Order: sequence, then C-alpha cells, then structure tokens
Amino acid sequence: ATADIGLVGLAVMGENLVLNLESRGFTVAVHNRTVARIDDFLAGRAQGRRILGGRSAEEFVALLKKPRAIMIMVRAGSAVDDTIELFTPYLEPGDILIDGGNSHYLDTERRASRLADRGLLFVGTGVSGGEEGALNGPSVMPGGHEAAWPHVGPMLQAIAARTPDGTPCCDWVGAGGAGHFVKMVHNGIEYADMQMIGEAYHLMRDVLGLSAPEMSDVFARWNTGRLGSYLIEITANILAKTDDVTGLPLVDLILDTAGQKGTGKWTSEAALTLGVPAATIAEAVFARAISALKDERVAASRVLEGPATSFEGDKDAFLADLELALYASKICSYAQGFALMGGAAREYGWRLDFGRIAHLWREGCIIRAVFLDDIHEAYMEEPRLPSLLLAPFFQRATSEASAAWRRVVSRAVLSGVPVPAFSSALSYFDAYRSAKLPANLLQAQRDYFGAHQYERTDAPRGQFFHTDWTGEGGVTASSTYNV
Ligand code: NDP
Repeated sequence: ATADIGLVGLAVMGENLVLNLESRGFTVAVHNRTVARIDDFLAGRAQGRRILGGRSAEEFVALLKKPRAIMIMVRAGSAVDDTIELFTPYLEPGDILIDGGNSHYLDTERRASRLADRGLLFVGTGVSGGEEGALNGPSVMPGGHEAAWPHVGPMLQAIAARTPDGTPCCDWVGAGGAGHFVKMVHNGIEYADMQMIGEAYHLMRDVLGLSAPEMSDVFARWNTGRLGSYLIEITANILAKTDDVTGLPLVDLILDTAGQKGTGKWTSEAALTLGVPAATIAEAVFARAISALKDERVAASRVLEGPATSFEGDKDAFLADLELALYASKICSYAQGFALMGGAAREYGWRLDFGRIAHLWREGCIIRAVFLDDIHEAYMEEPRLPSLLLAPFFQRATSEASAAWRRVVSRAVLSGVPVPAFSSALSYFDAYRSAKLPANLLQAQRDYFGAHQYERTDAPRGQFFHTDWTGEGGVTASSTYNV
C-alpha cells in the first residue's frame, strides 16, 4: 500500500482534487463507478504523476496506507450511500471516509452516526470553488468525527486556498453535519449575493439605460472597493464579453431563466425549520423560481401594467447609491447566514467559530470577498455577537448606507423593477432594529380566533392571558407552544 489518500468519483471536482493533492506531494489512489473513466484519467491528465488506479473496490482499498482515508466526490444523494456500502466491507475500524460532495447535513449526521457504530470515522466536508478551486485551492469546510482530523487535516489544508496572511481556508468546523451545514449556508449566501448583483444590473440596465460595457466598467470599479469579490469580478468580465457570431454582448443573448441544484432551497428550509429569519436568502431562491416561469411572465407582461417612468436624476449619484445599497443588503444576507449557523449550533450542539468560518470563505470559494476580513474581525472582537449587524464596524456601515439604500429601493419600486433581495434585506434591517413590531396585533388576532393567548406589556414575560373578545367565547385557552 502506497497511497496517502484515495478518491472516488472522477468527475470534474474529483479529477481536479486528485491533481491538486498530487501536486502537494501526496500519492493518490483513484476509483470511479464507470471504470473507463479511471483508464481515461490515468492515460490523460494523471499520466506521469503519483496517481494509481483501483479498478475494483478491493483493489482500490489495497492501495491505501493505514489508517485508510477515502474521499468520496460523487453526486450527492443515494450515490454517496452506494459508495459507502461498496467500500465498507474492505475497511477496518479507524479508517476514514470523507464525503466532499454537496450532501445534505442531515444525511451527513445520519451517515456519521451509522459509520461510528462500525468504528469508521466519517467526515462530511464542504468543498467550494468549482473546477478551478478544486485544482488550485478550494475552500474546505470539514466536520464529523474529530478523531479523523489529525490524519486528514494536513492533507486537506495542503490543498486548500489561503487567506492573504497565509492561513489555510480549511479548518475543522464541528461535529456531525456541521461542515456540510456551513457549506450549505455558504451556498445560500452565494444565491443572495448573485441575486443582489442581478438586481443592481437590472436597475442599471432598465432604470439608467446603461449598456453592457458601461455596466462592466461600473462593476470593475466596484471590485476595487468595499464590494471587492470574485462574483463582482466575474460580473464585470461577463458584461464585457461579446458573442463571437453576432458581436452583441453575450449576456443579452442568454435566456433569463435560472437553474438551481437545491442548496439554496436547503438553506431556506433549514432557516424555516430552525425559526431563524433568513428571508433574503429565501427571496434569492424564489427569484430563481419566478425567473423559470418564462412563458407565464411573457404572457403576463402583455396584460399586467407597471408604472411608466423615466430616470431624470444624476446617474453617477444613483450609481453611488446603488453601490451602497448592494453593500448594505449584502451585510444583511451575511448577518442572516451567520445567524442561521448560530441557530444550528444551538440546535445540534456544534461549537462553531464564526470568525474562523469567515476566514474559510475568504479565498478559494465562490463568495470570496475582501469583506469577509471585516466579518472575521467582528467575530474576533466579539465571538458572541448576537448579530453581525451589531458589530461596531457594520453598525457604521449600515448607518452610512441607510439613506442611499432607501433611495435605491424606493426608485426600484417606483420604476416597477423587482428588487426582492434589496428590499427584503432592508425590511430585515428595519425589523431587526425595531424595538416595537406590530406582532401585538397579531397575537390579539390569534387569541381572538383561536384562544392562543398573549403576554402583556404590563405583566412578567411568560405569563399568558386570554380575552373573550366577542363575549361569546369560553374561558378555555389553547396551549402556548411555539413550533
Ligand atoms: P457530479 O455531481 O456530476 O457526479 C458525477 C460523479 O458521481 C461520477 O464520478 C459518477 O460516476 C458518480 N456517481 C453518480 N452516481 C453514482 C452512483 N450511484 N454510484 C457511484 N458513483 C456515482 O460530479 P461533480 O464533480 O460536479 O460533483 C461531485 C460532488 O461535488 C457533488 O456532490 C457536487 O454537488 C459537489 N460539488 C460540485 C461543484 C461543481 O462546481 N461541480 C462545486 C462544489 C461541490 P460515473 O462516472 O460512473 O457516472
């Protein structure tokens, strides 16, 4: 046995991770369900490197040094269970299975506890950065059986991206499904980031009437400031690209229906299940869903009227507002994502280090951004921050952006341009900073129709009251549980 690690699943992520591992000095054994793919890889990109093929499960496992470490990079879902079942007969207690796909964190919890019964150490790790990241340095978010970390940590940290100060964008996240939960929230935040950039683009295009090259310049400028990030950078590049055939901006030729693979939905489901408000992330998922209703929207556009307005203000001033609106909205979606991780940590007993998580996302992954340094700092200063919004740095940032943010959302509403992420972020901000919300009326309504009871402002918390609102109800109250 000569291989330091084995990898199963030679699709785009798997192949590139293997090449990355090998380039860091590790000998890697590879396997794939469709064996031809192993041969193609060995004869192609893997040629001349310390990469060994195992055509059967048994042959593959025999190539691995003990304790064996096998990274699984197959399609999320039942394929992961099939792969685990294929290898476990050949493994011994203390061997390590690492699922690096986008698995649901509850599947990871289940797999970790089932494999622990057999003495196997299971690690569920998020890997972000796409094909390029996998090859040159992804962000890696491992969780599961911590006993595996001393063995797999050096390998995973060796292949990971690094922050500007040289810290690997890979560290132990927590027990059970914590790594996959953090990766899921990363993807939810990614949905929100992309949606917000789309809203800024929509406003520039339809309110200001900017051309694609003009918008490319704006994004390129923004990329040098507080919004500096991979997604802003690629947006500038995308808007500058022309179609080879027509010479038109390629973006204008792309159909406006977005796809999704489910991690944004999972994030939103988790937010609903844990009762953590993350509406901006959910709005980004719904925005993709409404974009997919292309035929319905085209039909509706012929009969449903919007406002007829034209922009007569100062375009540069509006662009300056837009940059701040995007920044403040982004702060809110990150605040929601971190609050969601806080909710999960409480629910599942994970000890998540939010400052460290911000640094895991600083490089390598799709949401990498200079702004993550500020989040890192905020949590280093106060690890128990109830919300990112309360960190002094972000208090100042939202306060400075507030007027511009409101002007942008108002302008969008008056112009009939949908801005679900900007406006939900602003509503989240306004709700979070409200000492008094209208839920008193809501509790009265619940008590009126369902005897659900309410607490009073002039009585201790936890003491519940019921009123016979109509004079026709009884005195029996419903119980006051919260789901
Ligand atoms: P895919 O998700 O397209 O999965 C293809 C791989 O899964 C192939 O190796 C395939 O084997 C294998 N596979 C599918 N079904 C089974 C099965 N029932 N049993 C055994 N093997 C099976 O590949 P990607 O490289 O795109 O992604 C791998 C994982 O990484 C996924 O979980 C994905 O969500 C995640 N991921 C992907 C990113 C990306 O940018 N693509 C980024 C970050 C994470 P075969 O060749 O035999 O069909």
